[in-house]
Amino acid sequence: MMLPLPEFDLLVPTSLDEAVSLLAAHPEAKLVAGGTDLIPSMKQRLFTPPTVISLSRVPELRASGDGFLGAGVTLREVAAMELGALSSAARGVATSTIQRMATLGGNLMLDTRCRYYNQSEFWRGSLGQDQSGCLKCDDAGICHVAPTGTGCYAAHSADTVPVLIALGAEVELVSPRGPRRLALQDLYEEDGRTWLTSAPDEILTRVFLPADPPDVAFRKLRARGAIDYPLLLVAVTAERAVLSAIGPRPIEVDIAGMTPEQAGEAAFRAAQPLSTHVWSALWRKKMIRVEVKRACTDLHRGSRPA
Ligand SMILES: Cc1cc2nc3c(=O)[nH]c(=O)nc-3n(C[C@H](O)[C@H](O)[C@H](O)COP(=O)(O)OP(=O)(O)OC[C@H]3O[C@@H](n4cnc5c(N)ncnc54)[C@H](O)[C@@H]3O)c2cc1C
Ligand code: SF4
Repeated sequence: MMLPLPEFDLLVPTSLDEAVSLLAAHPEAKLVAGGTDLIPSMKQRLFTPPTVISLSRVPELRASGDGFLGAGVTLREVAAMELGALSSAARGVATSTIQRMATLGGNLMLDTRCRYYNQSEFWRGSLGQDQSGCLKCDDAGICHVAPTGTGCYAAHSADTVPVLIALGAEVELVSPRGPRRLALQDLYEEDGRTWLTSAPDEILTRVFLPADPPDVAFRKLRARGAIDYPLLLVAVTAERAVLSAIGPRPIEVDIAGMTPEQAGEAAFRAAQPLSTHVWSALWRKKMIRVEVKRACTDLHRGSRPA
């Protein structure tokens, strides 16, 4: 079925200052970078902003330098940079066509996902709640994953994020109040409806990588070798395992000094995927043990698989 875009005004700033000012002047606006997530979501009527501000012509976001990547760098460019597990993660997102449009910043700010939310308006209407679908669309709705709960458990599903957290990355956000810098893991919160700690008027501008990053091994579990969003994301260092695609924010598990088997067991016990995906939550939980063990084995062998 053809899903037309809703009508909106498009603003195209050509500097970071102009983008920050426009966003402050249009608090109801949505930012768009590559558009590979925002545009399909607008077609599904998950939101219909009257104004969209494009970041595609903001040169400051495209600039990378010593120790940092611009938020507007494409995933294709990250994949080609030979940044080990980070390049592997970028290479595994969607398809090569999408990677050419998709940006690193868009990946870090990606909406959380759920099988009851990422559907057309028509599909969501069949849930019988005035076409709103569920609690994530409408505060008066219910959560179909945990009907007695008050939160949303939609899963954080951005492939580059667990690797960047494992590397110890920080991000810069710019607003009319100026720039601020925070550890990447502090950008995310527990509720799948809000999921970001950033303010609505902040623009993600840069991703900082530490000068002496730890070795990281990365694994992505998915149904097919391309296109599919993750069922599970795992990034491990000698000290910790970062798990994602199982809840609203990535979680970290201390695995310092453990064998791959012990690390897999510790991660298995720490994480509880819910039925936000069509694949069985119980099977995904069991695969945490398997994938963390595999990632630790890869790390000990010194390999970084794609
Ligand atoms: C078929 C398909 C499969 C996909 N599979 C995967 C997958 O497996 N793994 C995965 O991680 N992603 C996947 N994606 C999602 C998406 O392609 C990527 O996450 C991509 O990196 C998003 O980047 P973008 O520039 O296109 O973001 P956009 O769609 O432009 O924006 C995404 C969100 O980020 C916000 N945003 C963008 N840039 C900034 C900024 N600088 N500051 C503040 N907010 C910003 C936007 O407002 C929007 O809310 C898939 C998409 C499709 C269509
Ligand atoms: S977890 Fe619940 S509230 Fe969140 S998107 Fe899914 S069904 Fe909606």
